[in-house]
Amino acid sequence: MNIILLGPPGAGKGTQARVLCEKYSLVQLSTGDMLREAKKADSEIGKRAAAIMAKGELVTDDVVIGLIEDKIAEGGNVEGFIFDGFPRTLGQADALEELLMKTGQNLDHVIELFVDDNKLIERITGRFTCSSCGELYHKATKPPKEKGLCDICGAAGSFKFRQDDNEDSLKTRLLAYYRDTSPLIGFYHAKKILRKIDGLGSIDEIQKNIKNVIGKFN
Ligand code: AMP
Repeated sequence: MNIILLGPPGAGKGTQARVLCEKYSLVQLSTGDMLREAKKADSEIGKRAAAIMAKGELVTDDVVIGLIEDKIAEGGNVEGFIFDGFPRTLGQADALEELLMKTGQNLDHVIELFVDDNKLIERITGRFTCSSCGELYHKATKPPKEKGLCDICGAAGSFKFRQDDNEDSLKTRLLAYYRDTSPLIGFYHAKKILRKIDGLGSIDEIQKNIKNVIGKFN
């Protein structure tokens, strides 16, 4: 089963992808995470992407398609993928379709998480992750149970905020979402694989709604 999670920055794609991966034994492919890793490793791609990401603009299609192509080729014995933050343009969507076709796979569900713009700023500016295991937190809605300690791996004081999670960058990221990514909603609607989910609510509620919709169409 292959799933795309579609939605503006802060809609909860990463959080939901992590839970769904466990439930359905899928592999999460987040181009944002891959680019941040490339940046950390100071690779050529990372260096080129860093400034673009800081501003909240989109990295070119060829770069992100190349990253996804490598991961799909690595494939291995997986049940399928959850694409988180990819595709973000119609060009990327076409490329993904081709890549999956080459390996005899289909796209099963495109889950659109919709959230009011005003809520996104709240979500974005409060979120942080554990740099040891990647668990996602939020100051107001999901703080660690014990201050300074990761609930999952127990690492102490290893929380980090994203450089691009600020109001200025969010404005550009939202613009990019509505201009370049939202046309994908119509694209997948026409293919009859678009499932719309309200992205407001608790993590568990949203998870339940996603599972229901997947169950209904499988
Ligand atoms: P994300 O973690 O998905 O919010 O992505 C962080 C940043 O990485 C974005 O604001 C873009 O600059 C870049 N990025 C991630 N995925 C893509 C993509 N599929 N296409 C273009 N740029 C991307």
